[in-house]
Amino acid sequence: MDELPERQAGLASTLEHEGYSVRLVSAGAAAQRLIDEAQLVLLVLGPAGGPSRALLQHLMGREDAGQGLSVIALVPEEEHAAAVAVLRLGAEVVRTPVDTEELVARVARCLHERERLEALLSRVASLERLSITDGLTGVHNHRYFQDRLREEFRRAQRYDDALSLILIDLDHFKAFNDTHGHQVGDLVLRDVAASLQRSLRETDLLARYGGEEFAILLPRTPLAGALTVAERVWRELGALKTGPERTLRVTASVGLSSFPHHAVNNAEQLVRSADQALYRAKDEGRNRICVHAAGLSFDRALSR
Ligand code: GH3
Ligand code: MG
Ligand code: MG
Repeated sequence: MDELPERQAGLASTLEHEGYSVRLVSAGAAAQRLIDEAQLVLLVLGPAGGPSRALLQHLMGREDAGQGLSVIALVPEEEHAAAVAVLRLGAEVVRTPVDTEELVARVARCLHERERLEALLSRVASLERLSITDGLTGVHNHRYFQDRLREEFRRAQRYDDALSLILIDLDHFKAFNDTHGHQVGDLVLRDVAASLQRSLRETDLLARYGGEEFAILLPRTPLAGALTVAERVWRELGALKTGPERTLRVTASVGLSSFPHHAVNNAEQLVRSADQALYRAKDEGRNRICVHAAGLSFDRALSR
């Protein structure tokens, strides 16, 4: 450390007496390592341009400045301009010679604010998660799907990449509810979502599109690959034993559409075309996969 090591040792022991764990270190590589683990840095400002000022600038320029780390700079009483400069950087100032009571109070306040901010950030993060999650099934919700669909479509267009969409609608689910009750229906929807999620890769996006409808967005996946995924998903749904006693079965109709395709020029058209394929699957008897491919006849109808 800089000029007054014994005074700093005194400050350190005052803070330790208050229950804090304190490390004294010179500005440099060792300081950086310790700072990464620290909650608060007390920086003794040396002469203008010195290493502690460079460190202060570095710390306050970090992305997590003011979040993960609190910084208090100790600035000599007479250096008014330096104190203002520190405040402008966003750090806290304590003038030296230090009034230890004031220092302890400021340290406590900085740490308290940091804790409050962390709690707030974690609350924001959990609200963010909630806002994109379907409450019943825990998969992504319709709004998140719409946002990602648009984003992925733009990306696919810009990079000349493929993008596929699978829509899944459970067959005769109204009758299923009528027979087994809504609560069982809800349980089944949860099981179905979990089954779909198990069949997918990390990069695939599963969302609950509506009541008993799910959507799977497959970035960088052309039609043939998407058909393989659709078949796997459809097969696993067919094999799923669900309900309170794991004795119930469901079937699903599946519509598939891909970009690039001459009739698919935007995100809405990708959804509409998958929806048309899904309607066809329903029309043709349900429990099957249909592919949107206007004018072509490679629709695949799988039946058990
Ligand atoms: P189709 O084979 O033509 O798709 O017939 P369907 O009965 O599945 O289709 P319809 O659109 O007529 O009905 C969908 C049913 O899905 C109606 C509703 O009872 C059920 N459903 C929608 N959302 C939920 C939900 O959150 N929980 C439960 N238990 N059922 C739901
Ligand atoms: Mg439906
Ligand atoms: Mg249905």
